[in-house]
Amino acid sequence: MTEATPLQPQRCPKCGAPAELVKAGSRRLWVQCSRHPDKGNCNTIGAQADNKKEAIHNWNRLK
Ligand SMILES: [Zn+2]
Repeated sequence: MTEATPLQPQRCPKCGAPAELVKAGSRRLWVQCSRHPDKGNCNTIGAQADNKKEAIHNWNRLK
Protein backbone atom coordinates (compact mmCIF):
# COMPACT_ATOMS: atom_id res chain seq x y z
CA MET A 1 0.00 0.00 0.00
CA THR A 2 1.23 3.46 -0.83
CA GLU A 3 0.49 6.61 1.04
CA ALA A 4 -1.66 8.05 -1.68
CA THR A 5 -3.78 10.40 0.36
CA PRO A 6 -2.49 13.92 -0.15
CA LEU A 7 -2.21 15.75 3.10
CA GLN A 8 -4.01 19.04 3.27
CA PRO A 9 -3.37 21.61 5.95
CA GLN A 10 -6.55 22.41 7.81
CA ARG A 11 -7.69 25.98 8.30
CA CYS A 12 -6.08 28.08 11.00
CA PRO A 13 -7.34 26.92 14.42
CA LYS A 14 -7.30 30.51 15.68
CA CYS A 15 -8.84 32.63 12.96
CA GLY A 16 -10.12 30.17 10.34
CA ALA A 17 -8.07 31.56 7.46
CA PRO A 18 -6.50 29.14 4.98
CA ALA A 19 -3.06 27.91 5.91
CA GLU A 20 -0.06 28.19 3.65
CA LEU A 21 3.04 26.07 3.29
CA VAL A 22 6.29 27.98 3.56
CA LYS A 23 9.47 26.60 2.10
CA ALA A 24 12.79 28.00 3.27
CA GLY A 25 15.21 25.65 1.59
CA SER A 26 15.00 22.08 0.48
CA ARG A 27 14.67 20.65 3.99
CA ARG A 28 13.06 23.46 5.93
CA LEU A 29 9.34 23.72 5.68
CA TRP A 30 6.50 24.77 7.88
CA VAL A 31 2.87 25.77 7.65
CA GLN A 32 1.62 29.11 8.84
CA CYS A 33 -1.59 31.09 8.81
CA SER A 34 -2.11 33.06 5.60
CA ARG A 35 -2.87 36.07 7.81
CA HIS A 36 0.59 35.99 9.27
CA PRO A 37 1.80 39.50 10.29
CA ASP A 38 2.92 40.43 6.75
CA LYS A 39 -0.67 40.45 5.60
CA GLY A 40 -2.74 40.33 8.74
CA ASN A 41 -2.63 39.88 12.46
CA CYS A 42 -2.52 36.17 13.19
CA ASN A 43 0.73 34.60 14.30
CA THR A 44 -0.26 30.95 14.25
CA ILE A 45 2.63 28.91 12.92
CA GLY A 46 3.46 25.23 12.87
CA ALA A 47 6.72 23.66 13.94
CA GLN A 48 9.43 23.44 11.32
CA ALA A 49 10.00 20.11 9.63
CA ASP A 50 12.22 18.71 6.90
CA ASN A 51 9.45 17.50 4.64
CA LYS A 52 6.02 18.59 3.54
CA LYS A 53 4.15 15.75 5.15
CA GLU A 54 5.57 16.40 8.58
CA ALA A 55 5.18 20.16 8.29
CA ILE A 56 1.48 19.71 7.57
CA HIS A 57 1.19 17.16 10.36
CA ASN A 58 2.76 19.60 12.81
CA TRP A 59 0.30 22.27 11.75
CA ASN A 60 -2.76 20.03 11.87
CA ARG A 61 -2.10 19.01 15.44
CA LEU A 62 -2.06 22.61 16.69
CA LYS A 63 -5.79 22.49 17.11
ZN1 LIG B 1 -4.82 32.44 11.72
